[in-house]
Amino acid sequence: MEVNTQDITRAFIHNGEALAQQFPALQQYIYGKKLVYLDNSATTQKPLSVINAISDYYKTINSNIHRGVHHLSQKATDAYEVSRNTLAALINARKAHELIFTKGTTDGINMIADVFGRYALKKGDSVIISAMEHHSNIVPWQMICERYGATLKVIPMTQDGVLIMDDYIKLLDSTVKIVAVTYVSNSLGSVNPVKEIIRLAHNNGTPVLIDAAQAVQHMPIDVQDLDCDFLAISGHKMYGPTGIGILYGKEEWLEKLPPYQGGGDMIKTVTFEHTEYNELPFKFEAGTPHIEGAIVLKSAADFLTGLGLDKIAAFEHGLMTYLTAALQEFPEVDIIGKAKDKSGALSFVVKGAHPYDVGVLLDKMGIAVRTGHHCTQPVMDFFGVPGTIRASFAAYNTLDEIDYFVSSLKRALGMLL
Ligand code: PMP
Repeated sequence: MEVNTQDITRAFIHNGEALAQQFPALQQYIYGKKLVYLDNSATTQKPLSVINAISDYYKTINSNIHRGVHHLSQKATDAYEVSRNTLAALINARKAHELIFTKGTTDGINMIADVFGRYALKKGDSVIISAMEHHSNIVPWQMICERYGATLKVIPMTQDGVLIMDDYIKLLDSTVKIVAVTYVSNSLGSVNPVKEIIRLAHNNGTPVLIDAAQAVQHMPIDVQDLDCDFLAISGHKMYGPTGIGILYGKEEWLEKLPPYQGGGDMIKTVTFEHTEYNELPFKFEAGTPHIEGAIVLKSAADFLTGLGLDKIAAFEHGLMTYLTAALQEFPEVDIIGKAKDKSGALSFVVKGAHPYDVGVLLDKMGIAVRTGHHCTQPVMDFFGVPGTIRASFAAYNTLDEIDYFVSSLKRALGMLL
């Protein structure tokens, strides 16, 4: 495959190396080699703007929110709500109160599985997920189906890692109460046709949850255009802190669903006989939240919009194409996930070498990749592999790093095969 490297670097206004300067963790040497960080699907490194925002918060406005009349509490409350507004703009939500701060994608999906299950599921109902879900978009639905006697149905995929839409249409019947699918597969990189998945579900009167953990950092997301009912993201995969994320829900759904957890902040009035719940979004934010994380998530969103998600998408697509072409030159490498539309992650196996051994050797050369099942064991079972080696991209990666990765892989395979 012919790849024009100039197009890739031109696709991005910032040259990757200059961008990497903003990331102190990327300046390290591992075993004497400059770190090449290609485990971005697991978590991204953090820019100085995010790191500084964390210490600024504790140095200046640290206090509890929505409670105190004092100056610091008001400042922290304002910053918390400004962050919510910024994140609402990032995903183009109609209203900021459609965003709930969570611990991350897993937490958001568990929240909806729990409250939606209580609201809607009964014996004989069903829930649709897809064959390429992360465990966090399988297990919560399994648990909730078990609780209410509902059935979990799975949209199958092709050997290329593409969802079979005709089979999805066949699964969509009157028993289906919710569809939950990933926007981008973390182990295959496949970008799913979520807008079409949502449209078809809505024709069936069924709401849809989108797991956007691997999408929000790689491409523009517009929840109004997608028309999704729920969407979950994690801060730590979008250059922000761990332990914080967002659950977007359409106002009409969040209004009618019951609260998730009970406690402080989610109430208006409490007596021993009766509790009146708070308005959105507080109804779903019981207890003292991860205040610092929520406030700092604004800096992560600013980082993404500052670079421009269109530009990030074009640049990372270039990296993906470039690495795919290079790997196709290795006769012993088999790429797992050959969808036309891919983003973020490139998985492969090597005939005659265990992924773990390849990962360990690459680590010794200063390269961080992920090996294993990537929390998608059914995907590994489907492809009949114990795991894959996964290189996953961020905006700060460079073509030179991809070249170094490819030459290091050649060396590693020379040692193993
Ligand atoms: N869904 C997908 C597609 C993911 O890649 C991940 C994280 N690997 C998750 C959900 C879970 O995200 P978190 O661990 O941040 O809750």
